[in-house]
Amino acid sequence: MPPANPIWAHFNKLGHVAGFQQARAQCKYCNYEVNAAVKKCIAHFKTCSKASIMALQGFFGPDFQPNTIQRNNFHLSTEQNNITTAVTRPILQSQTSINNFVDRISSAEQDECELLFAQAIYQCELFLSLSELEPIKILFQKLRPCFKLPSLKNFINNIT
Ligand SMILES: [Zn+2]
Repeated sequence: MPPANPIWAHFNKLGHVAGFQQARAQCKYCNYEVNAAVKKCIAHFKTCSKASIMALQGFFGPDFQPNTIQRNNFHLSTEQNNITTAVTRPILQSQTSINNFVDRISSAEQDECELLFAQAIYQCELFLSLSELEPIKILFQKLRPCFKLPSLKNFINNIT
């Protein structure tokens, strides 16, 4: 006899139930009944709203994200712009200021950052073309997506 599929740790086998040709199984978490077939049970388990994350990740692997969480994230990302998976309640409550912080940069801030960047380049005697270098662009993009790296021309205008 082949070893039992691990999915059966999460379902009770009901055997034959009146009204169904195939044997049935019941989800241990939400009592949902399906045909006692491994594929059917896995399909339900994957979307089961009552199964714990630990149980789901124990079966599907540590990277598994239950559907309910994915739905929540989708909800968050559509309604609250750019607040990602790491949100906690206190952040949600102050979402307006967080959104401002995450999403926007005022032109004054942009100017100040440009000037600081230009001064750093100038005072440290770095290449004026630093901001044109692809890895530097990528770094800044990652640090602060809203900040536009100034071009060489802007540097000179800012410094002189
Ligand atoms: Zn279930």
